[in-house]
Amino acid sequence: MDIKQLQNIITDITIWKKGDQRAPHKPLLLLYVLSQYKQGHKRLFDYGTEIQQPLLELLNNFAPQRKTQYPNMPFWRLKGDGFWQLENAEPCTDPQKESKEPTSKRLAECHVQGGFNESTYSLIAKKPKQIDKLAQQILSEHFPENVQDTIANRLGFSLADINKQRDPKFRQMVLRAYNYQCAVCGYNLKQDCTPVGLEAAHVKWKTSGGPCVINNGLALCSIHHSAFDMGAIGLDSSFKLLVSGGVNGNDIIEKLFWDFEGKQIFLPKVKEDYLQDRFVEWHFREVFRV
Ligand SMILES: [Zn+2]
Repeated sequence: MDIKQLQNIITDITIWKKGDQRAPHKPLLLLYVLSQYKQGHKRLFDYGTEIQQPLLELLNNFAPQRKTQYPNMPFWRLKGDGFWQLENAEPCTDPQKESKEPTSKRLAECHVQGGFNESTYSLIAKKPKQIDKLAQQILSEHFPENVQDTIANRLGFSLADINKQRDPKFRQMVLRAYNYQCAVCGYNLKQDCTPVGLEAAHVKWKTSGGPCVINNGLALCSIHHSAFDMGAIGLDSSFKLLVSGGVNGNDIIEKLFWDFEGKQIFLPKVKEDYLQDRFVEWHFREVFRV
């Protein structure tokens, strides 16, 4: 295997899909493992002591909100993708049961270990730049830009030569439709004629097939854009602002978030430019955190 093949395999990793639900579980596991390799971790990780808790935290922060998260599933299922190796896996499967997927508890009890196989590990071990490149690839295939930055900062990846794929037309038509102001707070700073800190957000993420059209776009200031992509704010079906119960901070957060809760956002002048319900629903279901 060479690095190009590894990149292709990572793009192709089988992602559990049901309709257009997001499933960033394998990508988050890979990102975590890569971050540890970057710090010199040996090839294999013990599930119970090294993976379960940190992966659970990543799922709680960056996967769609669910009652229960299952860090055992990506750890177990990645073995079908051609570069992931499990050790001590045999004794923890119960042949009597139809589902052979062990629970988190079982994986920990059996001291199951997992990590890249030897040939793949040798491609990236002690190569921090190569690891950053792979991390960048995974991030850009699964998350919008400001979430990419948030995860990269948390896991210690350097995205210095990030290849931003911006669509200037999308930005222009969305900002114009929303009269060059943040749809939540009305922020509209211009330096002479240039808008500053104003962005066009995709309501349904591009990485989940959201199109670059006005009806999937929202003009937001940088702060509300980051909050929107992290699921700290969302919209209900009548375009009223929802604020996640997890939002907290000082007086400025009160002003920037809670003061707008339940208020309708600024809408485009023409109705044809309004957000489409299905995109708003997708964001509520897959991104917003109650
Ligand atoms: Zn704003």
